[in-house]
Amino acid sequence: MDWLGSLEQATRPVAEETRAALARRWDELPGHVRTESQTLGRMAVGCEGTHGVFPRCNFTCTPCYHSADANRVRVDGAHTLAEVEAQMAHLASVRGPHAHAQLIGGEVSLLDPDDHAEALAIMRRWGREPMSFTHGDFDDAYLERLALGPDGRPRFRRLSFAGHFDTTMRGRRGLRRPATEAELDPYRQAFCDMFRRLRAEHGVKFFLAHNMTVTPSNVDEIPQVIRDCRSMGFNMLSFQPAAFVGDARRWREDYASLEADAVWARIEAGAGAHLPFRVFQTGDERCNRSAFGYYLGERWFPVLDDDDPEDLAARDAFFTYLGGIHWGARPALLVARLARVLAAHPRLAATAGRWLARRVRRAGGVVAVVRALRRGELVPMTFVMHRFMHAEDVKPAWELLQRGETSDDPRIRETQERLQACFYAMAHPETGQIVPACVQHSVLDPAENATLVELLPLPRRRTVSQPVPASAAGAAAAKDEPC
Ligand code: SF4
Repeated sequence: MDWLGSLEQATRPVAEETRAALARRWDELPGHVRTESQTLGRMAVGCEGTHGVFPRCNFTCTPCYHSADANRVRVDGAHTLAEVEAQMAHLASVRGPHAHAQLIGGEVSLLDPDDHAEALAIMRRWGREPMSFTHGDFDDAYLERLALGPDGRPRFRRLSFAGHFDTTMRGRRGLRRPATEAELDPYRQAFCDMFRRLRAEHGVKFFLAHNMTVTPSNVDEIPQVIRDCRSMGFNMLSFQPAAFVGDARRWREDYASLEADAVWARIEAGAGAHLPFRVFQTGDERCNRSAFGYYLGERWFPVLDDDDPEDLAARDAFFTYLGGIHWGARPALLVARLARVLAAHPRLAATAGRWLARRVRRAGGVVAVVRALRRGELVPMTFVMHRFMHAEDVKPAWELLQRGETSDDPRIRETQERLQACFYAMAHPETGQIVPACVQHSVLDPAENATLVELLPLPRRRTVSQPVPASAAGAAAAKDEPC
């Protein structure tokens, strides 16, 4: 009978640990985000990221969310792997067996490819679906060495990367100081093409997100960026209005002038569609907006319309019966789990069927959908806006939260509410804490990086006793330019 018990457990739609972690997350949420559309605590525990694992970067962006010391820390594979292991173990113990997590720090491609691959493997072992966060300025050789083992066979069935491309960045090979977003398009395309080649030659699938920091200077370029990027190979276009956080020497503009609705309006203009971000709420909508959908040819459609009661009922059924399902499970297991849900709630099949019929009807009917599918014109595409907060607000808000106090200042109270509903968390196994990324960058990064500078100092530069040509000296200074 033992095997029957094991089978029952393995095919249980939602694991007990997941249920418990979701319930804990829901209980922790402040009342204002416990809405019908909230995904936290019902579908997922939120997104996770690493910190202090490789703070160094070879770009000089404006702004940069890392503290001034970050570039004085040596990239060290052994340190990276030990930290990733400890942070992931802590996340899994508190937040349950499955989540999406970013391998993020300074620049991930400064890691040796073998260390990068091992870090991803560690994250997977702890049930995390990893995504590497990069400026994308690497080539096929690096990607192949990451994706393939010493025997030339793929180490992974799929890789996920978030590529950061925008005019706030300085240092890209061939385009050190882009003046317009359009100038970056060939680099965006080249980034996607590397993954296409990897898939064609070695069968490694990919998921690519495009990240753009939004400032007053490039906000009006958002619509064209979206039109240019929608068929490059990305499946998520994510926009981060800049905040006053990190290295103050890199703050250039009035980031406080970036209103959420104004930025979202530019994103909608680029998508050419209303983006219904309230169908699925991800934490606090003052932090995050997400619209899930797909392009069919030139047009973008949402997976659920926010003005259709039937769609909203389908969402509620999804939360009720499928919330917490591990969609990344092996296909056979996933099918078995879904079959159990359907057996217990057969009316779900009709709900799903009607949902599909509505999607087809809105897309112009069966013929239009089949034609688009044949031409490969169906492109899943999620739009995201993530608004980090200013350090001068996060610091007092966090201090008060640590003391269990609520601020009387409306701005600081708003910050506290957002921190409590945070969607993007980082682990501190040494203190047992899990903190919002805003707190990591605004409060904890400076001391953490100062410690890492001692632990992992950069190699000393050789003293040059002979005079060198001015051009050579300048090149060396640029390469080691501190953050
Ligand atoms: S609190 Fe900060 S890190 Fe968390 S979701 Fe809000 S903006 Fe993002």
